[in-house]
Amino acid sequence: MRSISTSLLSDLLQALPYLRPQLYFKASLTALSHAMEDQVLAATLEQPLVIASFQRERFYRQEAHRYERLAQRSDQIYVLSAPETNFTNSSEHYEKVAFEPEDGLSQEWHLVVIAQNYATCLVCRENLSSLAKNSQLSDLAPSVDMDTARRFEGIWTAERGVSLKVAEFLLDRILIYRPELASKIKQARRRYGIGRTRGSSGAEQVTEYACDIDTDPFVQRLVTYLQASQYKLHKAYRSIAAQARKERLVNSISTAIRRSLNPQEILKVAAQQLGQNLEACRCLIYRAQATDLQAIIEHEFLRPGVLSLLGQPWSLENNPLFWEVVQLGEGIYVADTHTDPRITTSIALTDLVKRLKIRSWLMEPVFYQGRLLGIVELHYCHKHVHQWQAGEFDLVEAVATSLGVALIQAEAYANLEDLNQQLEALDRTRSNLIAITGHELRTPLSTIQVCLESLASEPDMPLELQQVMLNTALTDSERMQKLVQDFLTLSNLESGRVEWHPDSLSLQECVDLALSRIRARAANQKLPKITTQIAKNLPLVRADGDWLVEVLAKLMDNACKFTPPQGKITIKAQNNSNKIVEVTIADTGRGIEPSLLEVVFDRFYQAEGALRRTTGGTGLGLAICRQIVNGWGGEIWAESDGKNQGSKFHFTVPVTGVRS
Ligand code: ADP
Repeated sequence: MRSISTSLLSDLLQALPYLRPQLYFKASLTALSHAMEDQVLAATLEQPLVIASFQRERFYRQEAHRYERLAQRSDQIYVLSAPETNFTNSSEHYEKVAFEPEDGLSQEWHLVVIAQNYATCLVCRENLSSLAKNSQLSDLAPSVDMDTARRFEGIWTAERGVSLKVAEFLLDRILIYRPELASKIKQARRRYGIGRTRGSSGAEQVTEYACDIDTDPFVQRLVTYLQASQYKLHKAYRSIAAQARKERLVNSISTAIRRSLNPQEILKVAAQQLGQNLEACRCLIYRAQATDLQAIIEHEFLRPGVLSLLGQPWSLENNPLFWEVVQLGEGIYVADTHTDPRITTSIALTDLVKRLKIRSWLMEPVFYQGRLLGIVELHYCHKHVHQWQAGEFDLVEAVATSLGVALIQAEAYANLEDLNQQLEALDRTRSNLIAITGHELRTPLSTIQVCLESLASEPDMPLELQQVMLNTALTDSERMQKLVQDFLTLSNLESGRVEWHPDSLSLQECVDLALSRIRARAANQKLPKITTQIAKNLPLVRADGDWLVEVLAKLMDNACKFTPPQGKITIKAQNNSNKIVEVTIADTGRGIEPSLLEVVFDRFYQAEGALRRTTGGTGLGLAICRQIVNGWGGEIWAESDGKNQGSKFHFTVPVTGVRS
């Protein structure tokens, strides 16, 4: 009796030494086996002998239904396998032979088909070393990769002699496991002439029979099977290539993001890479917010001969596709602009598509945490509808996501720069404060000190003098207080820490309020004559009431300060357009040199310099006014024909209903 661990392939190569084994991948063996079985199923063979040996029950199970069908074609069908769950010796549809797992057969794959005028066989042994190597490499995805990488070495041939030999070995093996089949096997041997060619010289002679069966269908089936597996392979390659392309593209954009904080540069690279990789005719990237009516095309990739849109305005207001993107919060694709109702029902889009020759159109939003930052558009301008490849939409989405992060990063950086500038401005203000402390604060402070010291050390001081001392100290401390207050107001305005409460206001009322404030302040002082000329039908203005009164009061205060009591002050208000009201405070006072008309708005500017100042004041009033007026989007400016020619201060306020 043969040792049970013997390899059938070794036996065959020993018996027929001229045979040269070849290497087969599992897919090829499956294809060959199926084609051989199909030849039987096609009923071209009469009562063939079929012996199939599977390494394990699980491989057999996948083919069990085919063998049930094969059994209808012949009563000489044997299936061998190492049992795993319920494969046992049986004779139900065909002969099932359960061999021991240690049997050499468990590493081999055999199939033999023999008919009167046809024979073919497949005898292979699995190359286990390649499997082990492969399983180490493919730890991550063992099942699929390992199965396709399984390799076998062996013989596939249509030589009748070889097939008879293989059948002989297999029938011998079957007899070991199922001795009760002896007579059936004997019958098979007789019917197909198995075991008759045994020579006496050791090396066996093979008897050749011509095969008179048409094998063309077999070859065709084989080709079909091979093509099917080739197709699978091709698909796998394609998806790997697409993946690699995606990674390359996302990488190149990420590199641009890492290298630069300049969003312009990042967007430029992205437009170029996306356009090129996705073979678009035009790739546009522009910044846009959900409420924007229009964008400017900032970045563009173009194929030769395609109309450029770079630097041009791009209407969002008239583009229903943009609204849809904003509403859905995701990208949209128009496969064919000629038939898509979103285009055909919009005159604006139909015109646009015609002018720009867009046939297929993709619009992908760039979001960051739900906030729209921009749009990526791909235009395909061919005669035919563009065919997208798997994964390309995902690719655009992935790029858009990276762009979102990049833009926010760049914006944060810009904000930082902004903040830095604000800090610098604050720092300058602080230095100014320190500078004026010397002149502005130290002088009154030392006056106060001298006065108080004298009062304390000279108890005999005459009452009148005491009064003078106290008044001086009080006036100076008031001035200091005003300086500190103005300084804080200006700092708050400049650093944007002021909260605005805009309201609809009557200008007349604000002027009245400011006037009463001035009059109260100058209770025992003669003021120039003040007249107001405010149009009766003046619309309401939109501003923060407190701040508007503050501006008016400061300008009136200046006019009073720099105009002698016999002079005149006029407050005028008129609406130049239906959007703004212009307020003018004109005086007949000392005027301003034309070259200083801008400078007077600078912080701490005072015509006569701090030390020679005759009137009170901090030099901060006009700087504060400019900050306030700019805060509601207005303008402020001064006019004067020069020294002693009087001055006019103008500022604008938006009327209610017009957003600043
Ligand atoms: P101040 O507290 O000194 O008035 P402002 O910022 O209000 O500070 O004004 C700055 C300077 O602009 C004043 O010191 C003065 O030289 C000049 N100026 C402001 N208003 C008038 C005006 N109506 N006529 C002439 N000069 C003016």
